[in-house]
Amino acid sequence: MHFLPADTGSIGALRSAAAGCRACHLYQQATQTVFGEGPVPADIMMVGEQPGDIEDRQGHPFVGPAGRLLDKALAEAGLDRSQVYLTNAVKHFKHTTTADSKRRIHAKPNQTEITACLPWLESELGVVRPKLVVVLGSTAAQTLAGREFKVTKSRGKVMPWRDIKLLATVHPSSVLRATDRHEAYEGLVEDLKKVASSLARRR
Ligand code: SF4
Repeated sequence: MHFLPADTGSIGALRSAAAGCRACHLYQQATQTVFGEGPVPADIMMVGEQPGDIEDRQGHPFVGPAGRLLDKALAEAGLDRSQVYLTNAVKHFKHTTTADSKRRIHAKPNQTEITACLPWLESELGVVRPKLVVVLGSTAAQTLAGREFKVTKSRGKVMPWRDIKLLATVHPSSVLRATDRHEAYEGLVEDLKKVASSLARRR
């Protein structure tokens, strides 16, 4: 991908270059690129689908309602957000607009957009060098673990992936949409506790 910087070993260089990415059409309707944030290197890297409405406006990942829920779940699972590198499979906000143009509604990125954005995610993996990757929801899971991967079937299991580990769980936004929000939230916390215990065992 020709938008990648010469120095793909620097998170700052990657972030600056991604700000000007035009590798797919999604930049046209979004406010800005929302690149990953967090410590580099980091033991844990969490990958969501794409920035939401608030993330798009503010330019930071997981700062909207789903991000706040994730913060709470992380804390309850014994993890600290400040120790986690957080990013998304797709770096621009894909959305449709309501007929009165007042609200922007999330739209799922398609395979072409996900593939176009993958070099940024792979570069982040190369620089952050996590010991464990947490994929939040099916888009992130299938981007990294393959199109056949089913979060419903394999969530909450620490599994070997490349030369590190991977755990899949639901995206926090699905907890906000769940009929039984309490149950969905508890499920997310339980999955995240496995991340905490897996890392504790390695220390
Ligand atoms: S979504 Fe990804 S590939 Fe598409 S323009 Fe944005 S940063 Fe580039």
